[in-house]
Amino acid sequence: MKAQLIILGCGNSVGVPRIDGYWGKCKKNNKKNIRSRCSALISKGSNFVLIDTSPDIKNQFNNNNIKKLSSIIFTHEHADQTNGLFEIRPFFWKNNKKINIYGNLKTINHLKKRFDYCFKSASGYPAIIQSNIIKKKFSLGKNTEKISFRTFQAKHGYTKTTIYVFEKLAYISDCNDLSIVNIKLLKNLRYLVLDCLRIIRNPVHFNLDDALYIHRHLKPKKTILTNLHSTLDYNLLLKLLPKNVIPAYDGLKVNL
Ligand SMILES: [Zn+2]
Repeated sequence: MKAQLIILGCGNSVGVPRIDGYWGKCKKNNKKNIRSRCSALISKGSNFVLIDTSPDIKNQFNNNNIKKLSSIIFTHEHADQTNGLFEIRPFFWKNNKKINIYGNLKTINHLKKRFDYCFKSASGYPAIIQSNIIKKKFSLGKNTEKISFRTFQAKHGYTKTTIYVFEKLAYISDCNDLSIVNIKLLKNLRYLVLDCLRIIRNPVHFNLDDALYIHRHLKPKKTILTNLHSTLDYNLLLKLLPKNVIPAYDGLKVNL
């Protein structure tokens, strides 16, 4: 059975436009410049695995007509990857069972602190989340719907981010340094979804030069740039990219 990835959001931590209506260099008349915060959904049959719960998650599900959720994998603990966790309650009500989430120890500990009410029943509100610490290899789903993951820790400023590799795709939305990753294991990819915050350098994210260097080095069939800042207009960025590198946009579907 074939899997699909939907880029639900490809914006930086404040998205485009920002809450104050600021669009930066992005042209308002191009829908591909409307960027919600980074998250993505992997589907394989009826197995729906969400990557991160952005603050925009409710609209992202509705905009893409997604009605199912099987489990959630987290890249790291930052607010733009996690603040939508509260929104997933309707899937607990629908399935009548706790939703399994997966992440590294630091991310899970942060989530337990910030969303304590999701993990522990209190005042008549049941716990809705079951936490799991990720392993280097694990799988989600059954039989032909099973998705197998490999995970790697990489640097994202002062913290670490989990890179997920599945179905010949690597998802690296927030990262500035792959030096602690065994790079051989990121070769032979069909797709690389890669952090590219902006053109100028940033201490916790890859910039355009970094992203293109990594693309040339890893040689995936296609690289999709994400976590895009309002200084990167879709059409202008596209013109700067080689043929097999594209900017992401919200709602982009990738058949795996
Ligand atoms: Zn981050």
